[in-house]
Amino acid sequence: MQLVEIQTYVAKCIATLRERGMRRTRALELVIEEMATAGRPVTIQELAAKPSLEQQCDQATVYRLVIKLLEQGLVRKLGLHERSAYFALLIPGEHHDYLVCTECGAIKSIDMSCPVKKLEKDIMKSSGFSKVYHELEFYGVCPKCA
Ligand SMILES: [Zn+2]
Ligand SMILES: [Zn+2]
Repeated sequence: MQLVEIQTYVAKCIATLRERGMRRTRALELVIEEMATAGRPVTIQELAAKPSLEQQCDQATVYRLVIKLLEQGLVRKLGLHERSAYFALLIPGEHHDYLVCTECGAIKSIDMSCPVKKLEKDIMKSSGFSKVYHELEFYGVCPKCA
């Protein structure tokens, strides 16, 4: 995302969260901003180590804020287990499916056009559901661990 888009997106997220009664803090703004800037799934450790956040709060606070965003449906959790969990912002219009290494927990976005977009349409047609979406995670062993 471009810088202007990131700022607009952060402002929109904050507005949504305030409507739902969440307190606006500098740390919350920074968490969303850093996740948008990263543009890929990040771990809590990685996020907390960003200079802007490191100055602002500790890792426990970053974790608490990310979990709040997860509960509010603004963030998606990926990966194998708690220890190597990754978090990514759910940005409307941006869709990624991921590949997860079962050995080291590394995560990679799949750089191919999504294989199940057509299936989504078929499901909507046959079920009558609208706003159908999906999140896919494929598991395997990465080249480094093979
Ligand atoms: Zn691996
Ligand atoms: Zn997909």
